[in-house]
Amino acid sequence: MIEVPFLRPRLPEAAQIAPLLARIDESRRYSNFGPLNTEFEQRAVRRFFAGQGAATTVCNATLGLMLAIRAVQRPRARYAVMPSFTFAATPLAAQWCGLEPWFVDIDPHDWCADPSAVMHAVEQLGDEVAVVVTYATFGAHLNLAPYDDLMARGIPVVVDAAPCLGTHRDEHAFAANFSGPVVFSLHATKAFAIGEGGLVYSGNSACIDRVRRLSNYGFDASRSSDDLGLNAKLSEHAAAVALCTLDTFDARMQARLALYRRYLERFESTKLFARDWHVQRLDAQVAHQFMPVLVPQTMTGADVVQRLAERGIEARSYFSPACHEQPQFASCGHDGLTHTRKVASRILSLPLWEDMNDAIVDRVVDALTTLA
Ligand SMILES: *Cc1c(COP(=O)(O)O)cnc(C)c1O
Repeated sequence: MIEVPFLRPRLPEAAQIAPLLARIDESRRYSNFGPLNTEFEQRAVRRFFAGQGAATTVCNATLGLMLAIRAVQRPRARYAVMPSFTFAATPLAAQWCGLEPWFVDIDPHDWCADPSAVMHAVEQLGDEVAVVVTYATFGAHLNLAPYDDLMARGIPVVVDAAPCLGTHRDEHAFAANFSGPVVFSLHATKAFAIGEGGLVYSGNSACIDRVRRLSNYGFDASRSSDDLGLNAKLSEHAAAVALCTLDTFDARMQARLALYRRYLERFESTKLFARDWHVQRLDAQVAHQFMPVLVPQTMTGADVVQRLAERGIEARSYFSPACHEQPQFASCGHDGLTHTRKVASRILSLPLWEDMNDAIVDRVVDALTTLA
């Protein structure tokens, strides 16, 4: 029986949301960029991006990625260069835009796309590259400098930053001022959770105007469609939850950081690091979605998931299978994916949720120490 669940999201409760629902009753605006949605977009840009650039909400990040790719992709080119070590939504969004994913390897330490592998693919595929879609793995403060260089060379870049809302390095907000679209998820399983929702940010407000038009059927000012849009608008009810999450977010981040640090301390004190267990290299305050680790080379993540379940602990192995191993993407090209294969076979995602306590972290780590 599972006694420790992998995730146990806690969204704002009814009593906290009620005053905002009363504002919806009053305004009788239920969607189409209503007042609560506008308030959330503006507050999010101030809170997370130092007030620079612009953002538009979407009803989930998968649609956000589709619209972001659509907004910037080079016409008549074929490939979307991206890591295979990501969620299926990343390559699916490219396929919905008529592109073929081309998978590149990751760095073995931070598990983000290896910039030199990205550059190599861009050289190799040349004019056939429609877009580069990189992923800030598990909320990492991905270094965007190589991607600024690509954009300067005319190669569009989209950042899948699904779990990253809240990630920052000291006072430096992640992705602030990046000129391509950066897509965040507000799904129940992310640190900034509202249920279903997303936010597309860019330092370039013209880019956000385009994504916003695409999220509303491609309508121009005269409500005439001039682009391959769709409906990805966020409802006012969802925006109400988003405003409540924003109000409580600092405490939520602190709780997640404290659990992350407890995991590190316990890995250290139980000498798991000395026994070939590894964590992701991070150099920032990350909006931790869960606790990803690498099991020793002699084990696989899938094995450990099984053995933890026998001890009442639910774990997962994101992202194994990696995208290139999934039937939908099996025919996509790639660069050999040396590190991706190793990391995917050893990845293990451990429980981390806000009202989890230190004793539960200790129980999980103690269970790992018994696996030998
Ligand atoms: C969660 C996630 C998504 C999808 O977000 P939704 O809002 O659920 O559509 C996309 N990419 C990555 C890497 C994710 O973790």
